[in-house]
Amino acid sequence: MSSPLLKSCKACGTEISKYSPFCRNCGHPQGSNLIIWFLALFLIVLIAAYIAFTLYCSCHTEQLGAMLPR
Ligand SMILES: [Zn+2]
Repeated sequence: MSSPLLKSCKACGTEISKYSPFCRNCGHPQGSNLIIWFLALFLIVLIAAYIAFTLYCSCHTEQLGAMLPR
């Protein structure tokens, strides 16, 4: 451990970034970092879905106005 930002790969022992989801040498997934990446991906999808829904609603206000009470 020469740097706090580096850690050893669980599979091959190569020093890789703490925030890397996979080992750059052997491709072994690095445990807890996968959860962080999964959460980040989930947040991005959630935000994208919210933006898409907002855009959809603003484009279909007239149709929605006929269906939903204001
Ligand atoms: Zn490795």
